[in-house]
Order: sequence, then C-alpha cells, then structure tokens
Amino acid sequence: MSNRIRVFKFGGASVKNADGVKNLSSIVEKFNGSPLAIVVSAMGKTTDALEKVVAAHAARSGTAKQLLDGVREAHHQIMDALFENGDPVYDIVNDHFVAAEWILDDEPHPNYDFMYDQLVPTGELVATAIVAAYLNKSGLKTRWVDARDVIITDDIFREGWVQWDETRANVEKRVRPVIEKGEYVLTQGFIGSTKENYTTTLGREGSDYTAAILSYCLDAEDMTIWKDVPGVLTADPRLFDNVTKLDRLSYREAIEMTYYGAKVIHPKTIKPLQNKSIPLYVKSFVNPENDGTFIGPDVEDHYPPMVAIERNQALLNISTRDFSFVAEHHMRYLFNQIAEHRLQVNLMQNTAISFAICVNHIDDRIFRFAESIEKDFKVILDYEGLELITVRHYTPQVIEMLRNGKIVMVEERTKNTIQMVAKEVPLMKRKTELASA
Ligand code: ADP
Ligand code: ASP
Ligand code: MG
Repeated sequence: MSNRIRVFKFGGASVKNADGVKNLSSIVEKFNGSPLAIVVSAMGKTTDALEKVVAAHAARSGTAKQLLDGVREAHHQIMDALFENGDPVYDIVNDHFVAAEWILDDEPHPNYDFMYDQLVPTGELVATAIVAAYLNKSGLKTRWVDARDVIITDDIFREGWVQWDETRANVEKRVRPVIEKGEYVLTQGFIGSTKENYTTTLGREGSDYTAAILSYCLDAEDMTIWKDVPGVLTADPRLFDNVTKLDRLSYREAIEMTYYGAKVIHPKTIKPLQNKSIPLYVKSFVNPENDGTFIGPDVEDHYPPMVAIERNQALLNISTRDFSFVAEHHMRYLFNQIAEHRLQVNLMQNTAISFAICVNHIDDRIFRFAESIEKDFKVILDYEGLELITVRHYTPQVIEMLRNGKIVMVEERTKNTIQMVAKEVPLMKRKTELASA
C-alpha cells in the first residue's frame, strides 16, 4: 500500500450519538497502517442548535444560555456513554462551552456574522475533542489539531475565503509532520481563522471543503467522505423514491450537481481535488466495505438523469424605470451591485427591457440589493416557496414528473441541463380551477 496521506471526512450524521463515534473509530481501525488526516464536523444537528443560540443572543431574548445548555447536555450524554467519570475530556469540552458562555455574557456584537463565527464553531470544537479522546482511548494514537492554526481565511465572516499560501505553510508545519511521525491528525471541518486570529467559518456544510483543502495541501492519495447514504445518488432520497447510486462520476458532473443544490457534497469541495487529480470517494459509514461512488477525471459519457433541488430561492425581475433597453452599462452596474451584496446567481434571463435573476435567498440580501438599485430600476421580488430544479441528462419523462403540480416561472435548457424555477400550485388555486372547469 502506498504511504501517501489519505483524508477522511466524517459529517454530523456519522457522529450524531455515541454509537456513531464508536463506528467512526472502527472505520479508522480498518485502515490501520494508512497515514490519515481526519476531519470531523459538529455532532448531529448541533450547528442548527447553535445558530439558534446566536439568534437568541442577537435578539436579547434571554433564552440564549438555556439553548446553549441544551447543546451542552446533549454532548454530556454522548460523553457519558463513551468515557469513565472524571475523564479529562469532560474538562476540555467544558472549557469550550465556558468560552461560548462568556460571549453570551457580553452585549451582542453589532456584526452578526462576526458573532456567529465566534459562537457556532463550538460545535466542531467539542465534537473533535470527544472523537479524538475516544480514538486515543481505543489505542488509535491521535493528535487533536485546532483547524484555526491551519486554515487561514480573509475576514468575510461566515464565508471565509481561504488564503492558500498561509494555509499550505501551516499544513506543512502542523499537519504533515504529525502524520509522518505515525499519529492520526484529527481536526475540525468548517472553521478557520483570520490572520488576526479571529475565528471564521467557511459556510454551512463547509467541512467537506476543509477536507478538500487539506487533501490539496497534503497531495493526498485520496479523500473519502463518510455518509449516511451508499454514495452519490441520482437524487436526494429524502425527496424522491427510486433513486440509484452512481458508481462513478466525473469531477465536472459532481461540480455541476453540487453547485445547483445536490446536498451530498459541498460545491467548493471538488475543484481543489480536480486541480491535483485527487480521487474522491463518497462511501457509507453504515457499510464501509461497500464501494460507494468514485469521483475522478472524466470517466463516463453516459449518465442517467440526475436531479438537484435547491430550496429558498428568490426571483428578481429588474427593469429600467424609463423603459429604456437594459443595455451593457446597466448590466455592468447591476453585476457590480450583485457582487457587492454577495448574491449567488443560479440562473439569469434577459429581455429587451427587463432582466431576471434567480438567487439563493439568504438573510436580507435581496432586500438590501433591491434598495440599492431602486433609484434607477424597478425590482419585483418573488421569494415565496420557490425552488430551483436542475436536471442533468434530462428525459421528457423526468421533466414531466418534476413539473407535476408546479408552476414553472422561468426555465432554461442546454443540451445536458434543464433548470426550472418553480413553486407548488397552491391548493386553493387547484380547487378553484377544478370548480370552474
Ligand atoms: P453530513 O453528515 O456529512 O453533514 P448531510 O446530511 O449534509 O451529511 O448529507 C447527506 C444527505 O444528503 C443524505 O442523507 C441525503 O439525504 C442528502 N442528499 C441530497 N442529494 C443527494 C444525492 N444526490 N445523493 C446522495 N445524498 C443526497
Ligand atoms: N457543522 C457545519 C454545518 O452543519 C459544517 C458541516 O457539517 O459541514 O453546516
Ligand atoms: Mg452536512
């Protein structure tokens, strides 16, 4: 077996309880002998719970500490099932919760995103403390590494942009030597630090990306994401029946699907791997012996139809107030504003006097954007129950099935991809139509 480092990523579902932690340890044990960097994210739905703590603190609702106690209690239960009373891990975990409590003792920070990044990483910090302690207890020599000493980002809080040179240097200093000495490195996904030592996050579901950053910097042999599904499926099994596993997928297909909402891998994950031709495996942590999905250089030209659904979409119809054409200088101005307000554009269409974009509806960004251009442009916003449906390698049957019961507001087709911005036909409307038929 080659002695190049391999990178494993375990997400929230894999460590949602004590059995999950034991299972993780048994998977690592199976690969005994392989030099490994292991990335772990927060346990179960901890990040959602911590987001509620941040919102409660910002709103001065008086419930933030109580919500944080709930998170602490859930971690205590997991530790009680894994460790003897008095194990040093209890103090380590406690220290992380105390640090979070101190933040709650202060006034809410005026910059919400900054405050978020100081509180929400608690989930990753305690999860990795617990998993590292359990691996060591199981005889798997593991070094807990603080990802904030490795992954350096700019200071865009909640969307930290990786500073590759600094990060690469840190990996050489703090990660590779530990693994070469024969220990596993275990670190947090999702979190990083600015050069000034403020904690940042990489965006929700960003742990996959952390693993890809490490894989890139380490020139890894391969990277494996351990999931509660057998691999990448033709659609989200929570939304569709009759999905099938894709055995092989090209980087290109994986980027297209994840960019448009296939939730199985974070979209930023693939590019660093592709740049160094590092294979990515998506495998089941329930059946680790099974093959899963292999993602690599272009491997196949025939794919079945694959569906990705992205919820929380907003449609913005923008037209000039003076009914002039939407010309190039308008476009330049609009795109500047789009970038300024960090809108993520999934689809756009223009006619002579209007320009429509479909974007992810995040916080109040669309409202701030609309306000910023309202002097010169009329903006009609629609953000109720909208979803973006993307189908790669579509067939007429699949499109018909997906359109059923929906109103399609905008549609765009290329040879391999169809995208539809759609909403459910309201029940009331369907009834009325039937009555008047
Ligand atoms: P993690 O524990 O790594 O954070 P997630 O819950 O974020 O895992 O992602 C796994 C889930 O992604 C699966 O349970 C599945 O419901 C969903 N999913 C969405 N699209 C796909 C797809 N195309 N293939 C497989 N799983 C998908
Ligand atoms: N814990 C973070 C989240 O839930 C990061 C991740 O799981 O990848 O978004
Ligand atoms: Mg996840």
